[in-house]
Amino acid sequence: MNSQPDQHSEQGERVISRAYELGFAFAGIAETSKSAYVGQLRAWIQEGKHGSMQWMADHAAVREDPALVLEDAESAIMVGDLYTSRADNIDADVKPGEGRIARYARGKDYHKIMKKRLIALADELREMYPDDGFRVFVDTAPVLERELAQRAGIGWTGKHTLTIHPKGGSYFLLGGILSTRRFTTPIEQRPVGDHCGSCTRCIDACPTDAITPYEVDARRCISYLTIEHRTPIEAGFHRAIGDWVYGCDICQEVCPHNSARPIEQLDPRTSTVHEAYTPMRDRFDLLEVLQWTEDDRREAFKGSALKRAKLDMMQRNARIVLENQAAV
Ligand code: SF4
Ligand code: SF4
Repeated sequence: MNSQPDQHSEQGERVISRAYELGFAFAGIAETSKSAYVGQLRAWIQEGKHGSMQWMADHAAVREDPALVLEDAESAIMVGDLYTSRADNIDADVKPGEGRIARYARGKDYHKIMKKRLIALADELREMYPDDGFRVFVDTAPVLERELAQRAGIGWTGKHTLTIHPKGGSYFLLGGILSTRRFTTPIEQRPVGDHCGSCTRCIDACPTDAITPYEVDARRCISYLTIEHRTPIEAGFHRAIGDWVYGCDICQEVCPHNSARPIEQLDPRTSTVHEAYTPMRDRFDLLEVLQWTEDDRREAFKGSALKRAKLDMMQRNARIVLENQAAV
Protein backbone atom coordinates (compact mmCIF):
# COMPACT_ATOMS: atom_id res chain seq x y z
CA MET A 1 0.00 0.00 0.00
CA ASN A 2 1.32 3.42 -0.88
CA SER A 3 1.79 5.39 2.34
CA GLN A 4 2.99 8.54 0.55
CA PRO A 5 0.62 11.49 1.05
CA ASP A 6 -1.27 12.22 -2.17
CA GLN A 7 -1.89 15.70 -3.55
CA HIS A 8 -5.34 15.83 -1.93
CA SER A 9 -3.97 15.30 1.55
CA GLU A 10 -1.02 17.64 1.01
CA GLN A 11 -3.44 20.33 -0.16
CA GLY A 12 -5.72 19.47 2.76
CA GLU A 13 -2.87 19.95 5.22
CA ARG A 14 -2.08 23.33 3.70
CA VAL A 15 -5.71 24.41 4.03
CA ILE A 16 -5.77 23.35 7.68
CA SER A 17 -2.51 25.21 8.41
CA ARG A 18 -3.96 28.30 6.79
CA ALA A 19 -7.10 28.01 8.94
CA TYR A 20 -4.92 27.92 12.06
CA GLU A 21 -3.00 30.96 10.82
CA LEU A 22 -6.34 32.75 10.51
CA GLY A 23 -6.88 32.17 14.22
CA PHE A 24 -9.27 29.23 14.35
CA ALA A 25 -8.69 26.96 17.36
CA PHE A 26 -9.75 23.83 15.44
CA ALA A 27 -9.68 22.85 11.79
CA GLY A 28 -10.15 19.69 9.76
CA ILE A 29 -11.49 18.32 6.49
CA ALA A 30 -14.63 16.21 6.16
CA GLU A 31 -15.86 14.14 3.28
CA THR A 32 -19.34 15.09 2.15
CA SER A 33 -21.25 11.86 1.64
CA LYS A 34 -24.88 11.75 2.74
CA SER A 35 -25.55 11.99 6.46
CA ALA A 36 -25.41 8.83 8.55
CA TYR A 37 -28.13 10.33 10.79
CA VAL A 38 -30.93 10.55 8.23
CA GLY A 39 -33.26 8.18 10.12
CA GLN A 40 -32.62 9.86 13.47
CA LEU A 41 -33.10 13.33 12.05
CA ARG A 42 -36.35 12.43 10.32
CA ALA A 43 -37.75 10.76 13.45
CA TRP A 44 -36.80 13.84 15.53
CA ILE A 45 -38.71 16.09 13.15
CA GLN A 46 -41.67 13.72 12.82
CA GLU A 47 -42.00 13.68 16.61
CA GLY A 48 -42.08 17.48 16.55
CA LYS A 49 -38.93 17.81 18.68
CA HIS A 50 -37.76 20.78 16.60
CA GLY A 51 -40.60 22.81 18.14
CA SER A 52 -41.43 25.88 16.08
CA MET A 53 -38.09 25.89 14.20
CA GLN A 54 -39.89 25.23 10.96
CA TRP A 55 -36.80 25.84 8.84
CA MET A 56 -35.38 22.62 10.26
CA ALA A 57 -38.27 20.63 8.84
CA ASP A 58 -38.36 22.62 5.60
CA HIS A 59 -34.69 22.00 4.82
CA ALA A 60 -34.43 18.50 6.28
CA ALA A 61 -33.78 16.77 2.95
CA VAL A 62 -31.11 19.31 1.95
CA ARG A 63 -29.48 19.03 5.37
CA GLU A 64 -28.98 15.32 4.81
CA ASP A 65 -26.81 15.77 1.73
CA PRO A 66 -24.12 18.48 1.36
CA ALA A 67 -24.21 18.05 -2.44
CA LEU A 68 -27.68 19.63 -2.36
CA VAL A 69 -26.16 22.76 -0.79
CA LEU A 70 -23.20 22.94 -3.18
CA GLU A 71 -23.48 20.86 -6.31
CA ASP A 72 -20.65 18.34 -6.64
CA ALA A 73 -19.38 19.11 -3.13
CA GLU A 74 -16.43 16.85 -2.36
CA SER A 75 -15.12 18.20 0.93
CA ALA A 76 -16.05 20.41 3.83
CA ILE A 77 -13.29 22.44 5.45
CA MET A 78 -14.49 22.65 9.05
CA VAL A 79 -13.27 25.16 11.64
CA GLY A 80 -14.08 26.00 15.24
CA ASP A 81 -13.71 29.18 17.30
CA LEU A 82 -13.50 28.84 21.08
CA TYR A 83 -15.60 31.49 22.77
CA THR A 84 -14.77 30.57 26.36
CA SER A 85 -11.76 28.89 27.86
CA ARG A 86 -12.40 25.94 30.15
CA ALA A 87 -10.77 28.05 32.86
CA ASP A 88 -13.89 30.25 32.64
CA ASN A 89 -16.35 27.45 33.26
CA ILE A 90 -17.49 28.81 36.62
CA ASP A 91 -19.74 31.87 36.56
CA ALA A 92 -19.86 34.52 39.25
CA ASP A 93 -23.30 34.25 40.86
CA VAL A 94 -25.93 36.54 39.45
CA LYS A 95 -27.59 38.77 42.03
CA PRO A 96 -31.34 39.07 42.51
CA GLY A 97 -32.69 41.18 39.69
CA GLU A 98 -30.12 39.89 37.18
CA GLY A 99 -30.56 37.29 34.44
CA ARG A 100 -27.77 35.15 33.03
CA ILE A 101 -26.78 34.99 29.35
CA ALA A 102 -25.41 31.83 27.70
CA ARG A 103 -21.67 32.13 27.13
CA TYR A 104 -21.75 31.98 23.33
CA ALA A 105 -23.87 35.14 23.26
CA ARG A 106 -21.75 37.25 25.62
CA GLY A 107 -19.30 38.55 23.02
CA LYS A 108 -19.45 39.97 19.53
CA ASP A 109 -21.52 38.30 16.84
CA TYR A 110 -19.68 35.08 15.98
CA HIS A 111 -21.29 34.93 12.54
CA LYS A 112 -19.36 38.04 11.53
CA ILE A 113 -16.13 37.07 13.28
CA MET A 114 -16.02 33.63 11.69
CA LYS A 115 -17.39 34.59 8.30
CA LYS A 116 -14.80 37.29 7.71
CA ARG A 117 -11.94 34.80 8.08
CA LEU A 118 -13.75 32.01 6.22
CA ILE A 119 -14.46 34.33 3.29
CA ALA A 120 -10.75 35.30 3.24
CA LEU A 121 -9.83 31.60 3.15
CA ALA A 122 -12.41 30.84 0.43
CA ASP A 123 -11.08 33.76 -1.66
CA GLU A 124 -7.55 32.39 -1.39
CA LEU A 125 -8.79 28.95 -2.44
CA ARG A 126 -10.68 30.41 -5.42
CA GLU A 127 -7.46 32.01 -6.58
CA MET A 128 -5.54 28.77 -6.23
CA TYR A 129 -8.25 26.56 -7.73
CA PRO A 130 -10.26 28.74 -10.13
CA ASP A 131 -12.17 25.78 -11.57
CA ASP A 132 -13.65 24.83 -8.20
CA GLY A 133 -16.59 26.15 -6.21
CA PHE A 134 -16.50 27.14 -2.53
CA ARG A 135 -19.38 28.07 -0.22
CA VAL A 136 -18.87 29.53 3.26
CA PHE A 137 -21.33 28.72 6.04
CA VAL A 138 -21.73 29.76 9.68
CA ASP A 139 -25.28 28.77 10.65
CA THR A 140 -26.20 30.06 7.20
CA ALA A 141 -26.65 26.90 5.16
CA PRO A 142 -28.65 23.75 5.84
CA VAL A 143 -25.70 21.48 6.66
CA LEU A 144 -25.19 19.15 9.61
CA GLU A 145 -22.21 21.02 11.02
CA ARG A 146 -21.70 18.70 13.99
CA GLU A 147 -21.59 15.57 11.85
CA LEU A 148 -19.13 17.23 9.48
CA ALA A 149 -17.02 18.36 12.46
CA GLN A 150 -16.91 14.78 13.67
CA ARG A 151 -15.84 13.52 10.25
CA ALA A 152 -13.21 16.25 10.15
CA GLY A 153 -11.66 14.97 13.38
CA ILE A 154 -12.56 18.09 15.38
CA GLY A 155 -14.52 16.23 18.03
CA TRP A 156 -17.32 13.82 18.77
CA THR A 157 -21.00 14.57 19.29
CA GLY A 158 -21.68 14.29 23.00
CA LYS A 159 -24.85 12.94 24.60
CA HIS A 160 -26.02 16.57 24.85
CA THR A 161 -25.61 16.71 21.01
CA LEU A 162 -22.85 19.35 21.01
CA THR A 163 -19.41 18.74 19.52
CA ILE A 164 -16.68 18.09 22.10
CA HIS A 165 -13.00 18.41 21.25
CA PRO A 166 -10.96 15.95 23.35
CA LYS A 167 -8.68 18.72 24.67
CA GLY A 168 -10.70 21.84 24.00
CA GLY A 169 -14.13 20.90 25.42
CA SER A 170 -17.37 22.11 23.86
CA TYR A 171 -17.40 25.89 24.24
CA PHE A 172 -16.77 26.54 20.57
CA LEU A 173 -18.67 27.47 17.45
CA LEU A 174 -18.51 25.73 14.14
CA GLY A 175 -18.31 27.04 10.62
CA GLY A 176 -16.93 25.82 7.35
CA ILE A 177 -16.47 25.95 3.60
CA LEU A 178 -18.04 23.44 1.24
CA SER A 179 -15.74 22.75 -1.68
CA THR A 180 -16.05 20.97 -5.00
CA ARG A 181 -12.33 20.28 -4.75
CA ARG A 182 -11.36 17.09 -3.02
CA PHE A 183 -9.15 17.73 -0.02
CA THR A 184 -8.49 14.88 2.35
CA THR A 185 -7.92 14.64 6.04
CA PRO A 186 -4.39 14.25 7.33
CA ILE A 187 -3.87 10.89 9.07
CA GLU A 188 -3.67 12.40 12.57
CA GLN A 189 -7.12 13.97 12.12
CA ARG A 190 -9.23 10.87 11.61
CA PRO A 191 -12.72 11.05 13.13
CA VAL A 192 -12.63 11.25 16.91
CA GLY A 193 -14.29 8.41 18.82
CA ASP A 194 -17.02 8.94 21.41
CA HIS A 195 -15.52 9.71 24.82
CA CYS A 196 -18.81 10.08 26.72
CA GLY A 197 -18.59 6.49 27.93
CA SER A 198 -20.93 5.78 30.84
CA CYS A 199 -21.13 9.45 31.87
CA THR A 200 -24.66 10.86 32.22
CA ARG A 201 -23.86 14.19 33.89
CA CYS A 202 -25.54 16.37 31.26
CA ILE A 203 -28.66 14.18 31.24
CA ASP A 204 -28.88 14.23 35.05
CA ALA A 205 -28.24 17.99 35.31
CA CYS A 206 -30.64 19.19 32.62
CA PRO A 207 -33.38 20.94 34.60
CA THR A 208 -36.10 20.18 32.05
CA ASP A 209 -35.16 16.58 31.17
CA ALA A 210 -34.64 17.65 27.57
CA ILE A 211 -31.78 15.23 26.88
CA THR A 212 -32.03 11.59 26.02
CA PRO A 213 -28.63 10.28 24.98
CA TYR A 214 -27.60 11.93 21.72
CA GLU A 215 -30.89 13.77 21.33
CA VAL A 216 -32.34 16.99 22.70
CA ASP A 217 -36.06 17.70 22.60
CA ALA A 218 -35.92 21.37 21.66
CA ARG A 219 -39.42 21.92 23.04
CA ARG A 220 -38.08 21.24 26.53
CA CYS A 221 -34.71 22.98 26.15
CA ILE A 222 -34.26 26.32 27.94
CA SER A 223 -32.06 27.53 25.13
CA TYR A 224 -34.87 27.01 22.63
CA LEU A 225 -37.59 28.24 25.01
CA THR A 226 -35.83 31.53 25.82
CA ILE A 227 -34.40 32.29 22.35
CA GLU A 228 -36.56 30.66 19.67
CA HIS A 229 -39.99 30.06 21.19
CA ARG A 230 -42.12 33.09 20.45
CA THR A 231 -45.28 32.43 22.44
CA PRO A 232 -45.74 32.11 26.22
CA ILE A 233 -43.63 29.43 27.88
CA GLU A 234 -45.61 26.64 29.55
CA ALA A 235 -45.84 27.28 33.28
CA GLY A 236 -44.38 23.82 34.00
CA PHE A 237 -40.99 25.00 32.70
CA HIS A 238 -40.80 28.31 34.56
CA ARG A 239 -39.01 27.14 37.72
CA ALA A 240 -36.50 25.11 35.70
CA ILE A 241 -35.47 28.23 33.78
CA GLY A 242 -33.89 29.52 37.00
CA ASP A 243 -31.92 32.68 36.22
CA TRP A 244 -31.32 32.08 32.50
CA VAL A 245 -32.75 35.07 30.63
CA TYR A 246 -31.09 34.12 27.31
CA GLY A 247 -30.00 30.53 26.61
CA CYS A 248 -28.64 27.91 29.00
CA ASP A 249 -25.17 26.41 29.55
CA ILE A 250 -25.93 23.82 32.23
CA CYS A 251 -25.24 20.70 30.14
CA GLN A 252 -21.88 22.17 29.13
CA GLU A 253 -20.98 23.39 32.62
CA VAL A 254 -21.33 19.89 34.10
CA CYS A 255 -19.51 18.09 31.30
CA PRO A 256 -16.16 16.73 32.56
CA HIS A 257 -14.57 17.78 29.26
CA ASN A 258 -15.24 21.42 30.17
CA SER A 259 -13.92 21.19 33.73
CA ALA A 260 -12.43 24.43 34.92
CA ARG A 261 -8.73 24.06 35.42
CA PRO A 262 -5.82 26.44 35.91
CA ILE A 263 -5.00 28.22 32.71
CA GLU A 264 -1.36 27.06 32.83
CA GLN A 265 -2.52 23.45 32.55
CA LEU A 266 -4.38 24.07 29.33
CA ASP A 267 -2.95 23.37 25.90
CA PRO A 268 -2.58 26.87 24.39
CA ARG A 269 -3.65 25.72 20.92
CA THR A 270 -6.97 24.36 22.14
CA SER A 271 -7.67 26.93 24.85
CA THR A 272 -6.99 30.20 23.07
CA VAL A 273 -10.13 32.24 22.82
CA HIS A 274 -10.13 34.63 19.88
CA GLU A 275 -9.92 38.19 21.24
CA ALA A 276 -13.15 39.10 19.46
CA TYR A 277 -15.07 36.95 21.94
CA THR A 278 -14.13 38.99 25.01
CA PRO A 279 -17.48 39.16 26.81
CA MET A 280 -19.34 42.44 26.51
CA ARG A 281 -21.83 41.36 29.19
CA ASP A 282 -22.71 38.13 30.97
CA ARG A 283 -26.05 39.24 32.46
CA PHE A 284 -28.88 41.69 32.12
CA ASP A 285 -30.58 43.85 34.73
CA LEU A 286 -34.09 42.41 34.54
CA LEU A 287 -35.97 45.51 35.65
CA GLU A 288 -34.20 47.42 32.88
CA VAL A 289 -35.21 44.73 30.37
CA LEU A 290 -38.84 45.11 31.47
CA GLN A 291 -38.62 48.82 30.65
CA TRP A 292 -36.88 48.47 27.30
CA THR A 293 -38.37 49.90 24.15
CA GLU A 294 -37.55 48.25 20.85
CA ASP A 295 -34.74 50.81 20.39
CA ASP A 296 -33.29 49.88 23.80
CA ARG A 297 -33.31 46.20 22.87
CA ARG A 298 -31.61 46.95 19.58
CA GLU A 299 -28.97 49.04 21.32
CA ALA A 300 -28.36 46.34 23.97
CA PHE A 301 -28.00 43.64 21.31
CA LYS A 302 -25.93 45.75 18.89
CA GLY A 303 -22.91 43.95 17.46
CA SER A 304 -23.45 40.94 19.72
CA ALA A 305 -24.54 37.37 19.13
CA LEU A 306 -27.74 38.19 21.04
CA LYS A 307 -30.03 38.44 18.09
CA ARG A 308 -32.94 36.12 17.93
CA ALA A 309 -34.98 36.96 21.03
CA LYS A 310 -37.52 39.69 20.29
CA LEU A 311 -38.49 42.37 22.80
CA ASP A 312 -41.61 40.57 24.04
CA MET A 313 -39.63 37.34 24.42
CA MET A 314 -36.89 39.05 26.46
CA GLN A 315 -39.50 40.66 28.69
CA ARG A 316 -41.32 37.33 29.07
CA ASN A 317 -38.01 35.69 30.06
CA ALA A 318 -37.17 38.51 32.49
CA ARG A 319 -40.53 38.11 34.23
CA ILE A 320 -39.98 34.36 34.63
CA VAL A 321 -36.50 34.85 36.13
CA LEU A 322 -37.79 37.54 38.50
CA GLU A 323 -40.62 35.20 39.61
CA ASN A 324 -38.06 32.47 40.24
CA GLN A 325 -35.84 34.78 42.26
CA ALA A 326 -38.82 36.02 44.29
CA ALA A 327 -39.81 32.42 45.05
CA VAL A 328 -36.42 31.49 46.59
S1 SF4 B 1 -29.18 23.82 27.23
FE1 SF4 B 1 -30.04 23.57 29.31
S2 SF4 B 1 -32.16 22.94 28.99
FE2 SF4 B 1 -31.10 22.65 27.03
S3 SF4 B 1 -30.42 20.54 27.05
FE3 SF4 B 1 -28.73 21.73 27.92
S4 SF4 B 1 -29.10 21.71 30.15
FE4 SF4 B 1 -30.99 21.06 29.15
S1 SF4 C 1 -21.61 15.42 30.39
FE1 SF4 C 1 -20.86 13.33 30.06
S2 SF4 C 1 -22.43 12.36 28.77
FE2 SF4 C 1 -22.77 14.56 28.66
S3 SF4 C 1 -21.64 15.23 26.85
FE3 SF4 C 1 -20.24 15.47 28.61
S4 SF4 C 1 -19.10 13.53 28.69
FE4 SF4 C 1 -20.87 13.18 27.37
